[in-house]
Amino acid sequence: MNPHYSGVAERAAHRCKYCQAPEAVFNFPFEVEHIIPPGRGGADEDANRALSCRSCNVFKSDHVEATDPLTGTRVPLFDPRRQRWQEHFRAEQGIGHLVGLTSVGRATINLLQMSG
Ligand SMILES: [Zn+2]
Repeated sequence: MNPHYSGVAERAAHRCKYCQAPEAVFNFPFEVEHIIPPGRGGADEDANRALSCRSCNVFKSDHVEATDPLTGTRVPLFDPRRQRWQEHFRAEQGIGHLVGLTSVGRATINLLQMSG
């Protein structure tokens, strides 16, 4: 297991920093991901680590930006350490259905396939 898992998971209250899925519903621990991938110049330090479910991490891969499906513009992906989740996403009734409130929110949902 990632040596940083405990601290990162505790800080995230054991929820995925992208889709906010609770770790408890999965049968395996979430992953420690790099917000900016090391291959893109991201540092291997605490400020660049976030808890992510397997699904979000796989789709995020080494991307740092995505296309807003509404406007077609390329925007940076949501940064869970520097941006507030509530400003970019809203959870609709029913588990797993998320709505993007901003270009960043919509692009991130689209790339990470977070809307279920
Ligand atoms: Zn997730």
